[in-house]
Amino acid sequence: SRRWAKAMEIVREFEEKCATPVGKLRQVADAMVGEMHAGLASDGENKLKMLISYVENLPTGDETGLFYALDLGGTNFRVLRVQLGGKDKQIVGQEFAEVSIPRELMVGTADALFDYIASALAKFVASEGPDSQLPPGRQRELGFTFSFPVMQTSIASGTLVRWTKGFSIDGVVNQDVVVELSKAMKRQGLEMRVSALVNDTVGTLAGGRYDDKDVVAAVILGTGTNAAYVERAEAIPKWHGPPPRSGEMVINTEWGNFHSSHLPLTEYDAALDAESLNPGEQIFEKIIGGMYLGEIVRKVLYRMAEEADFFGNTVPPKLKQPFILRTSILSAMHHDTSPDLRVVGAKLSEVLEIPHTSLKVRKVVVELCNIVATRGARLSAAGIYGVLKNIGRDTPKYGENRRSVVAMDGGLYEHYTEFSKCMDNSLKELLGESSESVELVHANDGSGVGAALLAASHSQYL
Ligand code: ADP
Ligand code: MG
Repeated sequence: SRRWAKAMEIVREFEEKCATPVGKLRQVADAMVGEMHAGLASDGENKLKMLISYVENLPTGDETGLFYALDLGGTNFRVLRVQLGGKDKQIVGQEFAEVSIPRELMVGTADALFDYIASALAKFVASEGPDSQLPPGRQRELGFTFSFPVMQTSIASGTLVRWTKGFSIDGVVNQDVVVELSKAMKRQGLEMRVSALVNDTVGTLAGGRYDDKDVVAAVILGTGTNAAYVERAEAIPKWHGPPPRSGEMVINTEWGNFHSSHLPLTEYDAALDAESLNPGEQIFEKIIGGMYLGEIVRKVLYRMAEEADFFGNTVPPKLKQPFILRTSILSAMHHDTSPDLRVVGAKLSEVLEIPHTSLKVRKVVVELCNIVATRGARLSAAGIYGVLKNIGRDTPKYGENRRSVVAMDGGLYEHYTEFSKCMDNSLKELLGESSESVELVHANDGSGVGAALLAASHSQYL
């Protein structure tokens, strides 16, 4: 029918605009390298902030003692207690609690958010048993993973550059988030000192390195996306502090804010950006991050419903609701292997309240999931390729038998298998014969453990 043809035209046009041939990925990677250099040169108005982490030494495995971590990401936050046994013993005990962040706190006041976090931490501490005792007179120490762009002023202090991932709380930008957390902990009567403030990518890098000496970078694919890597101090012109003894500095790229004319963007991306809390910012993140993938598909389906009666004569009301189609739903539909796409049918019915969809319609929905996930995955691969290129680890001449390992984490990477598989393959395609020396490993909850490790290596008692 004409309506079906119109619907297919919308899908085809969307697919074309989302295309990521390998040549385009190379252009994206090269543009990323250029932006990385600019960000390392100065703290001006660069797209990539290339934030200095003040982490000059990654964990060695010798760290010992009881340390805490608090990981504030985007959707949930986790509190952890880690008992480090040092050489040979490594992590001898680990407990955690996970708490979701109520939506209203993401756009409320600073005190409300930090009080909520500090009280969960206080509860966690209050519930601990006799095996969690510190030596007498010793303060509890915490690694604070704060997964937003922070301009650090030391390993344990830094000011928020901007909110991302749906957070928008007045009065925190340009404030020291460690001061905010410490004040909230005091209000809760919690005796604890923040020894390290780290981005989740930096924590994942630290946690990854603890397990594998060849880890050189870390990438998060969760609510948003970001990467960190180990840079040579001489390659950071903007660093005017004392030269690190190690000769190295971990850089938090904040690649989520990458933008380039080479990015395959569509009208749906433009609309999503315009309606977001941070228009014009985090463009790379808005085509990759788990917060956004489902919303892009919803926008395409909405247009198909409106202009091509894709779901019948009326537009299903639920389809008008922004962010109703979460990326976990996308992933469930994309992974549906049943012959009649039963899961797709069930999700359309449960989530969008569209009952009785035909197999033909369900197939198109899966196709949309595939287009959006493929674009995100291939661009993530281009980003990783750019990071490796920047440190000269993209060529076979890099060295015989030398491995470059990238620690990966985040809900999207962990749960969206089609996404991760596609990313893996795309990275191999980009690396060609160098792909044998590059490995991606899943650093499960590395950001939490990594923060505890960094708290240990920056303890006041050392
Ligand atoms: P954060 O990035 O907020 O620290 P996580 O790394 O735990 O948190 O990632 C959570 C995000 O991962 C969710 O916001 C969602 O976008 C994505 N996600 C969670 N579960 C799935 C899933 N089953 N499939 C795809 N994406 C998922
Ligand atoms: Mg996280």
